[in-house]
Amino acid sequence: MTEAVRYEAEGGVVNLVLDDPNQSANTMNQDYSASMAKAVDRLVQQITDDPDSVQGVIISSAKKTFFAGGDLKLMTQSTPADAQRLFDEVEGIKATLRKLETSGKPVVAAINGAALGGGLEIALAAHHRIAVDGGYSIGLPEATLGLLPGGGGVTRTVRMFGISDALMKFLLQGQQMKPSKALSEGLVDEVVATQDELIPAAKAWIEANAGNEEAATQPWDRKGYRIPGGTPSTPKFAAFLPAFPANLRKQTKGALYKAPRNIMSAAVEGSQVDFETATRIESRYLVELIVGQQFKNMTQAFFFDLGAINAGKSRPEGIAPTKAEKVAVLGAGMMGAGIAYVSAKAGMQVVLKDISLEAAEKGKAYSQTIVDKAVSRGRLTQEKADALLALITPTDDYADLEGCDFVVEAVFESVKLKHEVFGEVQKVVKSDALLGSNTSTLPITILADGVDRPEDFIGIHFFSPVDKMPLVEIIAGKDTSDEAIARVIDYTKAIKKTPIVVGDSRGFYTSRVIGTFVNEGVGMLSEGVSPVSIERATTQAGFPAPVLQLSDELNLELMVKIRNESKAAAEEAGQAWPESASEKVIDTMIELGRPSRLKGAGFYEYVDGKRQGLWSGLAEQFPVADEQPAFEDLKERLTFIMSIESIKCLDEGLLSVPDANIGSIFGIGFPALQGGAIQYVNGYEAADGSIGIEAFTARAQELAAKYGDRFTPPASLLEKSKNGEKYV
Ligand code: NAD
Repeated sequence: MTEAVRYEAEGGVVNLVLDDPNQSANTMNQDYSASMAKAVDRLVQQITDDPDSVQGVIISSAKKTFFAGGDLKLMTQSTPADAQRLFDEVEGIKATLRKLETSGKPVVAAINGAALGGGLEIALAAHHRIAVDGGYSIGLPEATLGLLPGGGGVTRTVRMFGISDALMKFLLQGQQMKPSKALSEGLVDEVVATQDELIPAAKAWIEANAGNEEAATQPWDRKGYRIPGGTPSTPKFAAFLPAFPANLRKQTKGALYKAPRNIMSAAVEGSQVDFETATRIESRYLVELIVGQQFKNMTQAFFFDLGAINAGKSRPEGIAPTKAEKVAVLGAGMMGAGIAYVSAKAGMQVVLKDISLEAAEKGKAYSQTIVDKAVSRGRLTQEKADALLALITPTDDYADLEGCDFVVEAVFESVKLKHEVFGEVQKVVKSDALLGSNTSTLPITILADGVDRPEDFIGIHFFSPVDKMPLVEIIAGKDTSDEAIARVIDYTKAIKKTPIVVGDSRGFYTSRVIGTFVNEGVGMLSEGVSPVSIERATTQAGFPAPVLQLSDELNLELMVKIRNESKAAAEEAGQAWPESASEKVIDTMIELGRPSRLKGAGFYEYVDGKRQGLWSGLAEQFPVADEQPAFEDLKERLTFIMSIESIKCLDEGLLSVPDANIGSIFGIGFPALQGGAIQYVNGYEAADGSIGIEAFTARAQELAAKYGDRFTPPASLLEKSKNGEKYV
């Protein structure tokens, strides 16, 4: 066994030092559980043999972070056959922590860096938590990975804060917070300014509490303890308990996220029993998640894929870090205004150019609205708000772009106009300025024809609303240099967004894939599927917005424009155009004067810009058939069509698997519970319980036979399915 926890006794204080010699961060692996068990046994023995030799206990870390949580790689490999073993292991880890918190001596956790998941759960078993101030995170993010805090996290937070607060503030959304917030939320008890003060502060607390029985006893082990806010057996609390699952269902729009459901069950059931039984209930709910598929899907996307992207896996090697200082934003419309805001927020100077000063100022006013709101809510000081706004200079004069080193163009979607604008811009900005376009559909290589330096030309595709959407799709044209890619990745990092890097083609990755989704959903109307079912199928599959509602937002007129351009391009290239059932529906809606939310009429009714119900005329235009397809088919048609298109993008070498997974979730709302458009293929769970790429292929063939060729598995899928391989 590797000693992952060191036992250091000095002057009456036992320091349990978390320091796994085999890893740069401590994780809850077997070495940890065996070493911690041994260390706590030794402690208890020492207390039994010579009670006065121990005044108190510190749990600290010798790593940069405190403790990183469970070993996710290992956990994702478990199957239902591992359930009992996992249960026993989790129970073992918790028994050790329980022994520690009931040892009769005061225990203090000295948190020197990130304490997430299992790391925080270790600290929660201490009687007192001290953290060093800093920019790192503390929290129980398990829900975001499809897990629950099963190392005592649910049981202890419920007993510390009550069911309601524990669920809302810490558990259901996996909130992560900085030490100062953790202090104000009561998750830690003390914050010290520097690392040097940490251990002395821990020792001081022990000294102050030596021999104090109450300080060495958790609140829930004290006489007369009651869970704050009550339990289901408290009438007042019981009265609003049914609202919990109902709210959860409402939040997830009917999609079955298993982790929050299990967390809620563990919290509520655990509140009605003693501590030991509660932790066992928690273990059972945890293990059910670990052996299931949803945790594997979500962890693949949100831990492994996102982790790889954040670690810069797409950033070309050998290029020194770059920093955009002065950004030219061309076009102060919806997108340009948002791009100006996020750039200024990151401390960059911004020159916001439109055709009139009035239009440019209107674009800047968008930032004003956002900061005013933040100030009124106490989230931003007036000083910082003013400083942010001072960074944005609105203008109608190209000359003001002098000195800009980074250009983001967001004028109307027209090749001619964009060529014109870049022609002017390149004359005034720095001679090596990056030239980026926020086009959503136009091929970058064609746009780059309009500039003298195509190697510096690149697509920087934002999503609307820019200040809220986390993704930026970076598109490399034929001549785009590695340096340009690196510069845009550095810029996206600076504005705190997640970049994916894709090859150049019509619609790139996200617009191309969302197009297939919209066509599928809208096309269902022409088959006589009830619009209500279409909308429900979308949200119950886990998409954030129903497909007809989304189509109104995306604007049918814009779709026709893109369709015509793509059609012409296909014809020019001698490719067949795949007719879609949606085309007729879209054309009919436009003829009826119902193209978009913007125009106040679409598949939905709008009053003063506010969405009402589905348009009552739909039934007349697209009569609902007596016989409706299976609801599961509707849901899976929407997810399958996106995944199959994503496979085609992979086959064309447009992007990587992590970028497809993250791009599909962050950019176009692919259900997070499936882990993204490609993880869905790799980890597909069929209705008969079979899991994996073969099951996906079989179902795609079934859908193709029933609904059309577009579901036919691409060659690479058949090949992988035959060989039992995954997309990696
Ligand atoms: P918009 O119509 O809101 O804004 C375009 C702005 O460009 C207008 O203010 C217009 O006055 C200005 N403009 C026109 N000619 C100009 C010129 N010569 N110099 C300076 N400014 C000029 O459009 P938008 O929705 O912000 O879209 C802009 C670009 O972003 C388009 O290429 C679009 O495809 C792309 N895009 C849009 C979205 C979206 O959701 N709307 C998402 C991603 C990308």
